[in-house]
Amino acid sequence: MSVDGTLNQPADFEHSYSELGQSYVVPTSATPVSSPRWIAWNTALAQELQWPQPWSHSDEALAALAGNGQFESSRPGASVYAGHQFGSFNPQLGDGRALLLGEWRNSQGGLCDIQLKGAGPTPYSRGGDGRSPVGPVVREYLMSEAMHALGVPTSRALAAIATGDPVYRQQREPGAVLTRVASSHLRIGTVQFFAMTRRGEGLDELVTYATERHYKAALDTARAQDPKITCAQVLLDEVSKALAALVARWQGIGFIHGVLNTDNMLLCGQTVDYGPCAFMDRFSAGRVFSSIDSGGRYAFGNQPGIVHWNLSVLAQCLLPLIHTDEHTALSLAQGSVDRFPERFSAVYAALLAAKFGLEAMREDDKPLIEQFFQQLEQDDLDFTLAFRWLTEVANETTGASPITELFNPSDGLRDWSDQWSQRRQASSTESAARMQGVNPVVVPRNHLVAQAIDAAENEDYGRLKVLNDRWRSPFTWLAGDLEFAAPPTADEEIHRTFCGT
Ligand code: AMP
Ligand code: MG
Repeated sequence: MSVDGTLNQPADFEHSYSELGQSYVVPTSATPVSSPRWIAWNTALAQELQWPQPWSHSDEALAALAGNGQFESSRPGASVYAGHQFGSFNPQLGDGRALLLGEWRNSQGGLCDIQLKGAGPTPYSRGGDGRSPVGPVVREYLMSEAMHALGVPTSRALAAIATGDPVYRQQREPGAVLTRVASSHLRIGTVQFFAMTRRGEGLDELVTYATERHYKAALDTARAQDPKITCAQVLLDEVSKALAALVARWQGIGFIHGVLNTDNMLLCGQTVDYGPCAFMDRFSAGRVFSSIDSGGRYAFGNQPGIVHWNLSVLAQCLLPLIHTDEHTALSLAQGSVDRFPERFSAVYAALLAAKFGLEAMREDDKPLIEQFFQQLEQDDLDFTLAFRWLTEVANETTGASPITELFNPSDGLRDWSDQWSQRRQASSTESAARMQGVNPVVVPRNHLVAQAIDAAENEDYGRLKVLNDRWRSPFTWLAGDLEFAAPPTADEEIHRTFCGT
């Protein structure tokens, strides 16, 4: 309902978060651009959102999503947050190159944020230009949509628009704006801002808001048992579950986020901020791509531990709201933090069981699984294709798929697979079939994303469309997959990715 009591029309933005006040979101207009032009419009997502037809791929939409116009009911604003960046606390960050247009309610009643990324400076730009080069916009569009198709909770991309204006980084680059959709953009860093920078002022309102927005069902269930349970306690425990499940999904597909700072961790448990992220080609637990992660803090194998650490930061912020008694608060918070590893392990073990075609993971399977990863690392084998090879072996489809042309299993892996086949002997045909839905054929490999970026920098968006289309069905072989499923050649391989801010 809007303030005057009338029901929202389907095409109205809502502003529940901004209505908490300007200490949360500061009204800020987008800065107009010279000559906006479509890079991409996501028809499938627009349909899911029941996005109004007149606002879809129209001149009105182009203007509004580039920052040259405004949808009638939108109220652009910049949100504040703080965060630990590479372990150091920064008391004030915020939407420096992002604007929240408002919240959008889909037909199922779900609420999501609609945000422009790269639409000009805001009060939180800290000297930055508030803009984004086309490269990071293309990367985020492709990666977030591919992650969604792979079944990983993630922010989405509704549109990408070239601005016609240059941005200056190491060199002059064409600028672009992304329209990002997320369940919300509330972060661990948002809680940190009110808890740490504002010493608790406004924290209660934020925590109540976030819990009711994202974990209402869990709150109701908890309150039915214990009417005095606090939002903070429920929020922490639900975020513990959501982030444990999220990072388990990343580990299961070889995704490296690259900048797991607390300001890049959403309370709703979706992946956000596709900066220097990448999918691994050859497996290595220590794999790092980000040019700014020289210490390997956010290396592939460190991700579960880092997310656990980030959760402990959230717990610390929430302590005063969890319980009036300090000791009780501490023990409740510690409980949610301590349960993270077992929650992660439970989701990850179930996922691995599915990936290896096992009904369930047994305690005595551990050495076999560890040996598999050791073998991949030792023989420099491709993560995605190794799992797909097992899938084709289990389903006896190696002759009918391009896998043999793409993947050459080492002797060590073949020996390992004999042991694995023995372990699988009692497994059902369903467990083999299930492998096909969890072991993708294609993932957004770095060298392919780079091709789309190179083309887009020359105003050619054809490669983006081709790749985006291909990554919509990642679990099925399609014609032309020798190109899309192949690992990079030595020349094509990319070892470093950049934030590109
Ligand atoms: P990120 O690395 O994307 O997580 O961004 C870290 C912080 O820097 C956030 O507060 C961003 O809003 C801000 N930021 C990044 N790039 C820019 C930019 N070009 N202009 C202004 N602020 C930026
Ligand atoms: Mg960020």
